[in-house]
Amino acid sequence: MSKELFITTDLQKEWMAKIMGLESQIRGSAEKTDKLAVFPKENIQSLVELGYTTLTLPKKYGGGGITVKDMVLLQETIASFDGATALSIGWHQGAVGDLYENELWETSRLDHFAKDVLNGALVNRAASEAQTGSPTRGGRPRTTAVKKDGHWVITGQKNFTSMSPVLTHFLVSAWVEEREGIGFFLIKRDSEGLSIKETWNMLGMRGTESHDLVLNNVKVNEEAFVEFSKGPRGDKLNGWLLHIPACYLGIAQAARDYAVKFAVEYKPNSIQGSISELPNVQSHIGQIDLELMQARHFLYSVAAAYDDTDRRKSMKQELGAAKHVVTNAAIRIVDRSMRLVGAKSLELTNPLQRYYRDVRAGLHNPPMDDMVVSKIAKVAIEDMLND
Ligand SMILES: Cc1cc2nc3c(=O)[nH]c(=O)nc-3n(C[C@H](O)[C@H](O)[C@H](O)COP(=O)(O)OP(=O)(O)OC[C@H]3O[C@@H](n4cnc5c(N)ncnc54)[C@H](O)[C@@H]3O)c2cc1C
Repeated sequence: MSKELFITTDLQKEWMAKIMGLESQIRGSAEKTDKLAVFPKENIQSLVELGYTTLTLPKKYGGGGITVKDMVLLQETIASFDGATALSIGWHQGAVGDLYENELWETSRLDHFAKDVLNGALVNRAASEAQTGSPTRGGRPRTTAVKKDGHWVITGQKNFTSMSPVLTHFLVSAWVEEREGIGFFLIKRDSEGLSIKETWNMLGMRGTESHDLVLNNVKVNEEAFVEFSKGPRGDKLNGWLLHIPACYLGIAQAARDYAVKFAVEYKPNSIQGSISELPNVQSHIGQIDLELMQARHFLYSVAAAYDDTDRRKSMKQELGAAKHVVTNAAIRIVDRSMRLVGAKSLELTNPLQRYYRDVRAGLHNPPMDDMVVSKIAKVAIEDMLND
């Protein structure tokens, strides 16, 4: 059971080969990254050098112009090496893909930032705050943007800023009182008043160093005010967020591969041969691959529907549904893989316990399960009422 079935284009083959070239480096760094909760800077540097971080930039801006399906394939592959590396770089890939597909900014700003991306810039949205919780729920940011002497002055504190050690740009959400809505400001790392507070001390995705971003009267000019909305961004159709389920699918694949290898190699002396010949173990393997197939087919199918701009018009809650289905399947796959391996899966040197902790973080990336389910229900009811 593998993703080979989904590799259909020359571009995918070419990029899969390039990413596979980084397998030993990224896989080899995962244990240390997790143990010390340090950001895998070298992995991100290698991906930048490879040109990976320019892939979701459209061709007309000089980028690779890949589709969401291409991104899903490459992201799940990186995640099968190391979840923290994949989730971190996924935020950049997704942010750039969304920005440029929807041309969310003025043309001159898009052109300018595209050059930065081609030169290795790394960006992520800093939208979460302690008081608001997940921004998708519509809480008003405590971070404020106030116009003073022709400049915007931003003050506040963001949490969960993944990839904070290497980001060159932060897309920061702030409450703009004079327009009574939420603005996004593109703020450079070296801006005066911007600092990182090292708060990240989590059970899973430890290597993402998703620290707090502190903005103390950070002064930016008008061009930095790049987006404005009255409500939460989560209401918009954004296929680039599929980098999130892709990440958790990759972790599930890694857990499954470890468990199947263990099953064929482990030969306790209570039996002849390996445990892979036992019905209880085969039941685990069969169930794992069933879940993996369902999750992968669903994810790639939704990504393909999004990539087709005609079909995209008919999409309703499929993106959220894919995130929900894949993430929960991934959690079950990791759990079952650990049951198969037994107590050895709990050893701190065993990658399964890391997958177990990392995959859990998926529940707390957007969109959250309860919101997906309630939106699906609302659409069903609305459709019935409108019939
Ligand atoms: C590994 C990782 C990386 C992340 N990286 C980033 C990043 O780079 N940038 C970024 O901006 N964010 C990032 N986040 C933050 C993420 O997007 C969420 O903002 C964060 O996880 C908080 O979500 P929550 O559901 O725990 O918070 P809350 O919204 O506070 O929810 C906590 C609990 O309260 C309930 N609840 C709260 N409000 C409501 C409501 N209105 N209606 C119903 N139930 C409610 C929820 O159901 C949940 O049970 C990251 C998170 C993780 C785990």
